[in-house]
Amino acid sequence: MEVALKIDVDTHQGLKDGVPRLARMLVAEGVSASFYIAMGPDNSGRAVVRVLRNPGFLKKMRRTKAVRMYGLRTVLSGTLLPARPIALAFPNLVRGLKRSGFEVGVHGWDHVRWQDEIDSLGEAGIRAELAEAFEAYRAIFRERTRSFAAPGWRTNAIALRALDSMELGYRSDTRGRTPFRCRVDGEVLKTPELPTTLPTLDEVMGREDLPDAPAVLEFYLTQFNAEGLNVHTVHAETEGMAELESFTNLIRALKARGAKFVRLDQVAARLDSAELPVCEVVRATLPGRAGWVAAQGPDLA
Ligand SMILES: [Zn+2]
Repeated sequence: MEVALKIDVDTHQGLKDGVPRLARMLVAEGVSASFYIAMGPDNSGRAVVRVLRNPGFLKKMRRTKAVRMYGLRTVLSGTLLPARPIALAFPNLVRGLKRSGFEVGVHGWDHVRWQDEIDSLGEAGIRAELAEAFEAYRAIFRERTRSFAAPGWRTNAIALRALDSMELGYRSDTRGRTPFRCRVDGEVLKTPELPTTLPTLDEVMGREDLPDAPAVLEFYLTQFNAEGLNVHTVHAETEGMAELESFTNLIRALKARGAKFVRLDQVAARLDSAELPVCEVVRATLPGRAGWVAAQGPDLA
């Protein structure tokens, strides 16, 4: 069983507090991972306003303890309080991840804007988000990024084509089954797409049939594919903070079952792109998640 951990960092606080704790735990467990960091301003307060408008929110808030998880400063960031920078606020911390053997990739510029407005940004808006994010990455590492993971698993034809022209090793923008090549308006793009294959903890935590952490752990262990590649997305704000202990237990249970941990760039390096299935990118809804995500459509070839 192969497991690639994709750690999304969406907020200033997630990077400051969640990432160092996750990195320490993973180093102690001898496990590699790929960190995807939002490069621009932390406007997550606006995301909270979006979530507040969602009818299922109050129930989920009680179950997931959003303020405890995210902290009041994050909940207000970009609304009542100014947006704080994310990656650019902690360049040494971000560089330290690579020195510790982790992969670091770009998780957009303004996470909230990308997630909420991708279909109204237009070509210029999308290219501006990508250019700002890639420039920030270059400022931190003095080299260009080789990978991108779309905020909120949201993408469209404009973003897929724009990213395809940027000579990336791979993208991880969607939810799906296996690595694939995207077909957009009849054209097969060259950049391999490595989708997230498992449900996220915040999606699972709202479920009535999984009342406590041991039940959630048991559920996760049934979700991993023993034969193939599993891509599991975790969040610095969740597994790096209030849920660090349950995530550590998951890592140990996977190790006990012989899981081999790989970085997404290592997976991409060994792929033969020509052998990958070709699929369209469709829009789907997932249990426990509000709104749509981009997903792998059926195999076409
Ligand atoms: Zn994210």
